[in-house]
Amino acid sequence: MSAILVWAEITDGRVKKPVLEALTAARAWAESAGLPVWAAALGKEIPDAVLSTLAEYGAEKVIRILSPALEPLVNSAYARALAHLMKEKGLSYAVLPQTYDGKAIAPLLAIEADAALLSGITQAPEKEGTGWKARRIAFSNKAIEWVYTEYPRVIATLRTNSVVPAKAPKPLATEEVSFTPEAKDLRLQPTGVEKVATDKVPLTEAEIVVSAGRGLKGPENWGMVEELARVLGAATACSKPVADVGWRPHHEHVGQTGIQISPNLYIAIGISGAIQHLAGVASSKNIVVINNDPEAPFFKVADYGIVGDAFEVVPRLTEAIKRYKEQHAH
Ligand SMILES: Cc1cc2nc3c(=O)[nH]c(=O)nc-3n(C[C@H](O)[C@H](O)[C@H](O)COP(=O)(O)OP(=O)(O)OC[C@H]3O[C@@H](n4cnc5c(N)ncnc54)[C@H](O)[C@@H]3O)c2cc1C
Repeated sequence: MSAILVWAEITDGRVKKPVLEALTAARAWAESAGLPVWAAALGKEIPDAVLSTLAEYGAEKVIRILSPALEPLVNSAYARALAHLMKEKGLSYAVLPQTYDGKAIAPLLAIEADAALLSGITQAPEKEGTGWKARRIAFSNKAIEWVYTEYPRVIATLRTNSVVPAKAPKPLATEEVSFTPEAKDLRLQPTGVEKVATDKVPLTEAEIVVSAGRGLKGPENWGMVEELARVLGAATACSKPVADVGWRPHHEHVGQTGIQISPNLYIAIGISGAIQHLAGVASSKNIVVINNDPEAPFFKVADYGIVGDAFEVVPRLTEAIKRYKEQHAH
């Protein structure tokens, strides 16, 4: 029996949130294709909690590919392992989360599996005629592009935060498929990872992002930004010049030349809203702008705007959120 396969990216022994989004989108795709959803979990060993999470989000079967050579993750080996699995099981469709690794594995997998690649789609592909139509964001958020394929095999990557993950519990069923990476799959090997970002919530996966720019005047003023982010359970981000002058680390820089994000809520404090900044954040579902210049371009794309001095507005906003949370704690 065929199925739509979802690659279950695992970090620190847990399924990444974009995988739950991919499973949710895959279910919608599977419904129009008349197929079940399967998940593929690769590594040295797969924790039970991973398997049960995948079943909880609608995987009717979880296929494990176990090999010591699959840890740490090497993109080429993962692509070949997934292609091997698709071939062995006769699968035509797969969804990968559009994470750093998902983005790197998908094109290699598309080549290995001789499939069309629908990259960065924002919802499940829709049936059209004898093929599939998919929607994606193009030209740094300036356009929406529809792509169509009639190719018999399709690999899709789902843009993070495009789909709200929803549970659809299935009884856990697992199977093992054997695959041993060859030397050519392991040409490049990660030899160690030194974490520089200490954020609790990774920026690309965060549902809420609190971001600040040059309007904050200096790095010593970021305490209030971090406090607002803490109260909201948000990740922090910044504009490019702020990272360029070293007020904030480079991994927080969002925009055309930085990280592209689409959280549910993006709060921009003291950021003018230059086109290059908007290129990385304009697909956020809700944008709140705090700026003391009513003519700041950011207000044109804002869902909510506060014209005011960030040094007054941000602490008051944080206090109001704290009060609200206390009142609604039970
Ligand atoms: C090729 C290229 C690529 C680029 N890529 C990126 C990118 O990826 N990301 C990016 O961010 N930029 C990028 N830029 C830079 C971009 O053009 C802007 O210069 C930059 O985004 C401006 O940053 P900013 O909004 O923090 O600063 P400014 O433009 O200086 O804006 C500061 C804002 O703070 C407001 N403000 C001042 N004081 C207060 C206060 N007390 N309270 C509230 N508001 C206040 C001001 O009204 C102003 O709107 C790129 C530029 C180029 C040429």
